[in-house]
Amino acid sequence: MPLSVTLLGTGSPLPDPNRAGPSTLVQAGDTNLLVDAGRGCVMRLAGAGLFPSMVTGVLLTHLHSDHICALNDVITSHWVTSQAPTPLPIHGPPGTAAVVAGIEQMLQPDVGYRIDHHDDLTTGPQLEVVEHEPGERFTIGACTVTTHATDHRPVEPTLGYRIDHDGAVAAIAGDTIPCEGLDQLCAGADLYVQTVIREDLVALVPNARLQDILDYHSTVAQAAQTAARAGVATLVLTHYVPPMQPGQEDAWRAIAAEHFDGTIVLGNDLTRADAS
Ligand SMILES: [Zn+2]
Ligand SMILES: [Zn+2]
Repeated sequence: MPLSVTLLGTGSPLPDPNRAGPSTLVQAGDTNLLVDAGRGCVMRLAGAGLFPSMVTGVLLTHLHSDHICALNDVITSHWVTSQAPTPLPIHGPPGTAAVVAGIEQMLQPDVGYRIDHHDDLTTGPQLEVVEHEPGERFTIGACTVTTHATDHRPVEPTLGYRIDHDGAVAAIAGDTIPCEGLDQLCAGADLYVQTVIREDLVALVPNARLQDILDYHSTVAQAAQTAARAGVATLVLTHYVPPMQPGQEDAWRAIAAEHFDGTIVLGNDLTRADAS
């Protein structure tokens, strides 16, 4: 089976009726990895044809709310749709364990109700939380994963995940500006997924809180420059700020194409790209 990525959610913190929050599915054979768990990702997972119990593990790039706000839904739905106690690995940067512990506390009443009600449900969610520093390597399902430092300061630490399956590589970055760690993450990758903003459009909005986001995200041009520098085959853009409207795809693509002559993939939720 090839390695593929599916954009479950292409949105951002800004609510959009047509875009779920940031979340990307990486698939290799029976291995289904969820990178980030933004708003509505379980719904989009169903759209991709997957039941929550089929999620092999979750990888978090950082702990910004737009990237984790549906993690409780992933945890609960994975738990109740698994027919036997099934561990759910959750990998993330330092701080992940405390966030997951808070979610478990929030879910305590629900877990109690369901264990009381279902005779065959005797334990709560079996979560295996692993916190990583950059430069670590681990195996999950059919994939080998290495962690790389990204730069989303003042949010830190943040991680990118280089996911290898049979020599095919998907580099999944969260929110980050271009940096050395990002170049290492992407070097020679088949697929590079990057969250992006359009600084030319954001700059037009007279809102201080929105202007603040300009200094810690990659622009479309910067993502394309990173892709070119790293020699990736396919650049996949997601997390569109402002939300990309129907008919604007070519304009976004044209900005990236000025800097990168490989394949450029962008679009609606459930857009998929395969490693060639
Ligand atoms: Zn962020
Ligand atoms: Zn974000």
